[in-house]
Amino acid sequence: SVTAGVALVDGVLRLADGRGIEFWANVASQRDAEAAARAGARGIGLLRTEMLFLDRADPPDEAEQAALVAAIMEPFRGRPVVVRTLDAGADKPLPWLGMAPEANPYLGVRGVRLLLARPAVFETQLRALLRAGSGLDLRIMLPMVTCAEEVTAARAALECAHAALVAAGLAHAWPVPLGIMVEVPAAALEAKALAGCADFFSIGTNDLTQYVLAAERGHPALGRFADASHPAVLRLCRDVVEAGCACDRPVSVCGEAAGDPRIAALLVELGVTRLSMSPAAFAVVAGALRN
Ligand code: PEP
Ligand code: MG
Repeated sequence: SVTAGVALVDGVLRLADGRGIEFWANVASQRDAEAAARAGARGIGLLRTEMLFLDRADPPDEAEQAALVAAIMEPFRGRPVVVRTLDAGADKPLPWLGMAPEANPYLGVRGVRLLLARPAVFETQLRALLRAGSGLDLRIMLPMVTCAEEVTAARAALECAHAALVAAGLAHAWPVPLGIMVEVPAAALEAKALAGCADFFSIGTNDLTQYVLAAERGHPALGRFADASHPAVLRLCRDVVEAGCACDRPVSVCGEAAGDPRIAALLVELGVTRLSMSPAAFAVVAGALRN
């Protein structure tokens, strides 16, 4: 595929030194997914499912969730699709979850913490994802993981969802890799230990940067800290890449840094070979990497 003059072969950019850099897409809708397929993405590296259900009073049921995700996966038949389970809380409140107000929502019950606190919501979504992925290359990713216990508990919920679908005789994807966002500093620091329970890593530089620099993302007065190229953030990214290599776990970067040509080049220097970004950034990032 040719994206504004940049040749991606099966979503891979070949560098002069022979290395292949995979271009995956961040999507939040069916329209995004269709555009990503046209742009020649290697796969979907991040489907932000919370974006599908932002403005509603009632929870989406299993069938509705399955239909929506299946429609998003359809253009990627035969290619991998990483679906992130609901990442609600803080900057992404979902009214239908009826979450309690918190003094520090960025440090509160968000991401996988919320999913584990709401087993009915979590298992409904897991069943929906498994059904949507039937016959497709589905991978499931957990947001805001801090420790291995969360991954183990989530894997148990995933196995429950699979058992329920078997019992109901419903077609679904199985087995399915279960990976994690690395966006909490503790997860980056303990990536080797987390490799024992997670099948893949995707570094979320947006949240990782906010937590490493202790500066709320999007804060109007703290823009200078919204910098994923800060050495402290890059050092953690390097550690995660090394842990992934050592433990044979794929590592991608799916935060905004992956779509920033300057920072993407730094990440590739650190050994990152899988970038997930808005397809609108493919051309400029590929151009920067080639130079
Ligand atoms: C991130 O935190 O870098 C990320 C990709 O997730 P989100 O921006 O949806 O929090
Ligand atoms: Mg995040």
